[in-house]
Amino acid sequence: MACNFILLGPPGAGKGTQAEQIVRDYGAVHISTGDMLRAAVAAQTELGVQAKQYMDAGELVPDDLVIGIVRERLDSEDIRARGALLDGFPRTLAQAEALDRAMSDLGLGEPIVINLVVPDEVLLRRLTGRRMCRGCGAIYHIDREGLDVGDKCTACGGEIYQRSDDDPTAISERLDAYHRQTAPLIDYYAEKGWLVPIDGTGTPAEVGVLLSEALKTVRKCD
Ligand code: AMP
Repeated sequence: MACNFILLGPPGAGKGTQAEQIVRDYGAVHISTGDMLRAAVAAQTELGVQAKQYMDAGELVPDDLVIGIVRERLDSEDIRARGALLDGFPRTLAQAEALDRAMSDLGLGEPIVINLVVPDEVLLRRLTGRRMCRGCGAIYHIDREGLDVGDKCTACGGEIYQRSDDDPTAISERLDAYHRQTAPLIDYYAEKGWLVPIDGTGTPAEVGVLLSEALKTVRKCD
């Protein structure tokens, strides 16, 4: 059976960046609820219209909306064949419990839960300087690549923008939401024996090395 992964960690911990490596190394299908919701907002679907107000305020979108889209996405042939990499989901205990049920109903097996650990002061700096490409979703940082709003993406030429929830007020709300609602999931998964903690304070490459070393020592999925 293919490996399934959950990437836990506060906003700005580097989940999106490390997700790319896991997709490369394990062939898992990347499922980012943040990306799915942003796409729904851009397309002004019913889900997008409902989700936008919460996202702009830095709050979590209600559980039933998010659980519905993830469950639907997991029930597919590519996930059975390649495994899933869940990024940004689950974020509440109710989501974690719903995910356990969905994975067991779909016969997907126990996930490997990677927890990226980064202190708040590092997260704040990362999030305020984060920029994204509207075309391909590439993630940049003003300190690292020197790219800012109005520049062009070096990968696809798309427009560089700053996420509306990366402004200081929304950032502190998102960190609060993380500590209140998502941090308890660390204990939930530790008790199940599924948790793999990784120090996420280094550069993306340094964290990537720690992650691949750690994954070599965890159980095989098949
Ligand atoms: P992200 O890109 O993962 O930081 O997500 C951006 C925003 O989308 C979050 O601040 C939430 O408003 C919303 N969101 C993403 N994933 C979830 C989730 N699992 N549960 C609730 N809201 C979510």
